[in-house]
Amino acid sequence: MRLGVEAALVGSELVRGDVAIEDGAVAAVGLPSANGRGLAAPGFVDLQVNGFAGVDFLGAGEAAYRSAGERLLETGVTAYLPTLITSPEERLLDALAAVPRTQVAPRVLGVHLEGPFLSPERLGTHPPEARRDPDLELAARLLDAGPVRLVTLAPELRGALDLARFLAGRGVAVSCGHSDATAEQAHAAFDAGVRAVTHVFNAMRPIAHREPGVAAVALARDDVVVQVIVDGIHLAPDTVRLVWRAAGGRVALVTDAMAAARAGDGRFRLGEVDVVVRDGVARREGDGVLAGSVLTMVEAVRNLHRLGVPLAHALAAASAVPARLLGRRDLGRLEPGARADVVVLDDALEVRRVLVGGETHVAA
Ligand code: ZN
Repeated sequence: MRLGVEAALVGSELVRGDVAIEDGAVAAVGLPSANGRGLAAPGFVDLQVNGFAGVDFLGAGEAAYRSAGERLLETGVTAYLPTLITSPEERLLDALAAVPRTQVAPRVLGVHLEGPFLSPERLGTHPPEARRDPDLELAARLLDAGPVRLVTLAPELRGALDLARFLAGRGVAVSCGHSDATAEQAHAAFDAGVRAVTHVFNAMRPIAHREPGVAAVALARDDVVVQVIVDGIHLAPDTVRLVWRAAGGRVALVTDAMAAARAGDGRFRLGEVDVVVRDGVARREGDGVLAGSVLTMVEAVRNLHRLGVPLAHALAAASAVPARLLGRRDLGRLEPGARADVVVLDDALEVRRVLVGGETHVAA
């Protein structure tokens, strides 16, 4: 099968010509095409999705995963980590047990546990009563309950580095976030195998010139993947430009989407937190703390590109970089032999077609 596109993003290069798909994989790129339209890019991989289109993943069953998944596909997402914020253990165990185990589209690559081992100083919207200090036994129970793939923790907490090593030993990627870590504590975490930072600048110690903190260390080190929410709300445009200048090539776009994404304004839940969404901004009821986003991944790509980042690099930040953090070399790439998880975009960077494993799921 040919996609009928004009060009494809291969590595970080735009290669003119059509793409052929065979047996669920990319068979060839750069094929002659007289009337090709659109750009084929690797399907998007979102590391942080709390919910989507009215569904919150803390309470989602099979049908809810299916309906949220269908709507995520429309935004170019072909693989993602349903994300569970800090919640009581029983709720997390139930939610982990409910994660689809069979092959679905988009692919559920495992769960991102954002918490509960977070700093009491930097909880943002996470409920303080469910926060926990690092606890290896609790972590083991969570890992046994379902497919945990990424854990966000505050590395400065007592026992956090032992926990990070334990998680890494079980094949779980670890990211610093909701953290008050100093630069020294951040270096210790990254030296201990922590590989990423979660929504950089949001819910963490801000940069000061003599105490740069975890955000600056993540930007300064070459070995850290920097996750960033580019929705025009969580960070100022110049902050995003600064992030890109420091860490372009290892920036992973995330949406941090919650149930209101593609569902309009109104009242929603983010885990056990009541959230009010007004004019596309999600805030905790009462105190107005930001509570996730209504961003979609294709919007994040457009937003990053609009800030001056070349399109090929913005697309890689939504695909190759997050896949790499998860050690999924088979995803986030569009080249012969790679899985045919593909998004086709038009000139306005609207999603026109989405394939997962070579099967078309969205055709606009
Ligand atoms: Zn967060």
